[in-house]
Amino acid sequence: MKSENPPWRAILSQSIISPKDLPASIEADRDLLQEVTARYPMRINPYYLALVKRKGDPIYRQCIPDIREISEASGVEDPLNEEGDSPVPGLTHRYPDRVLFLVSSRCAMYCRFCNRKRKVGRDSMASRESIREGLSYIRGHREIRDVLLSGGDPLLLSNRELSSILTDLRVMPHVEIIRIGTRVPCTLPQRITPQLAHILGRFKPLYINIHFNHPDEITEEASSACNRLADAGIPLGCQTVLLRDVNDRPEIISALMQKLLTIRVRPYYLFQADPAKGTSHFWPPLDRGLDIMAALQGHTSGLCVPHFAVDLLGGGGKVPLLPEYMVERGRHSLVARNYAGKTYRHPVSD
Ligand SMILES: *Cc1c(COP(=O)(O)O)cnc(C)c1O
Ligand code: SF4
Repeated sequence: MKSENPPWRAILSQSIISPKDLPASIEADRDLLQEVTARYPMRINPYYLALVKRKGDPIYRQCIPDIREISEASGVEDPLNEEGDSPVPGLTHRYPDRVLFLVSSRCAMYCRFCNRKRKVGRDSMASRESIREGLSYIRGHREIRDVLLSGGDPLLLSNRELSSILTDLRVMPHVEIIRIGTRVPCTLPQRITPQLAHILGRFKPLYINIHFNHPDEITEEASSACNRLADAGIPLGCQTVLLRDVNDRPEIISALMQKLLTIRVRPYYLFQADPAKGTSHFWPPLDRGLDIMAALQGHTSGLCVPHFAVDLLGGGGKVPLLPEYMVERGRHSLVARNYAGKTYRHPVSD
């Protein structure tokens, strides 16, 4: 296979990293935004930027900095206490059988609502050294059967760096499955080359969870990228974040979930936005998520319905939340409300 400089690298190198370089068509106060990007990095590659149709639309809000990132004080730097549960830098071991392993500091676009915005884009997030230590921790802990690679975006590593990490993990007999959490099929689908799909396909069982937040992100390019990964035999899931004024309406989430299934991506989680500092303008009320779940369940294919989850402040982990369907529970029967709001009495045994 050829190893010429691939087109995705050229696209990425044309990213806008300073508000003053935003094209004239994007309405924004460039001087004010400069203060924001002095604290939190900005990167918008031309592919993702082209999805913006107008000021304040759901794509604009996800990628263009907002003064509220620095003017509003609520939230905490590390809401999930990932650093507190971290035996070695860049690795979080919170649940008994699996770890979260940060292997890249960079993303194809820096999402303004990112819960790791305190460190994303900084070299200290994942280094050659921290990756080596992380691998060695996993090697020494045989209870770890599931390794979740994240960052930053693991798919921004070179093919060679990525295969090296995957190869090291695959030779550990206790590591049963590997997962990759990535936004690249959404924000830079050109990265999913036939060569990359072929490489990833060699490390099965490998699962990829993609992060799509809005139906407008499901373009022809994103669709080809996902189909290519699915054709390589990799099951695809989606982790969506519920964001105020981006996607917090039942018709948007429902359209997104339905579209995901057409590109062979199975909805996995719908997250309540984390209380990360600098993101408070994205937090929807909790009822919004519950109402959206009620609007999905039963109204559309069960495959469209993700788990709605809150990742508890301080490192409690993910907790699934459901609208209330059980009206009454007795010894011999329960009364439940169905999706359409009708109640039924159903027999149960003790
Ligand atoms: C989300 C997460 C996982 C994976 O959780 P699943 O519910 O298995 O997808 C593992 N470790 C950490 C620290 C996490 O935040
Ligand atoms: S792709 Fe993920 S890690 Fe990167 S900025 Fe967006 S939310 Fe954060």
